[in-house]
Amino acid sequence: MGRIKKYAHMMLSVQRKALLRVICAYRTVSYEAVQVLAGIPPLDLLLEERMQLSTLPRVTGEDRKAVRKETIRKWQERWTNLEEKGKTEPECGTCGVEDTAEHCIFRCSVFNTLRHELRTCVNALTPKNLIEAMLESKEKWNKCSHAISETVKEKERMERASRVA
Ligand SMILES: [Zn+2]
Repeated sequence: MGRIKKYAHMMLSVQRKALLRVICAYRTVSYEAVQVLAGIPPLDLLLEERMQLSTLPRVTGEDRKAVRKETIRKWQERWTNLEEKGKTEPECGTCGVEDTAEHCIFRCSVFNTLRHELRTCVNALTPKNLIEAMLESKEKWNKCSHAISETVKEKERMERASRVA
């Protein structure tokens, strides 16, 4: 158990470094926000999933579904906790509101076109629905994470441009 915990910790730190490289547009970036932005479920939750399934004598499709549902719930909980903390972010230069990760991906008018991509996978676009849709199929996962990473790249470009100006 100790070794597995250590391994999970190591994986999280590797994942965090990789994600932080992808997203540097946000000065006060938290691990949870980075994961939601990059559309990647926390590795520790995925690992927990594997471990739970490995304790069963026989794994059925129902087991997998139940365990995945629990992962989504925990992931959603982390995202909710993050929102409640009410982190102070700089203001969005275009919309004049607090520039949070959620604003950027779900509301900012600058990214309407990229959001259109997400809407082809999700009916009512909310963080919860997006995460659920992404976990539904590999195709949706790829489509959404592509749209999100393009949004983040564009955000970075804008951020760099405003620093030069
Ligand atoms: Zn905005």
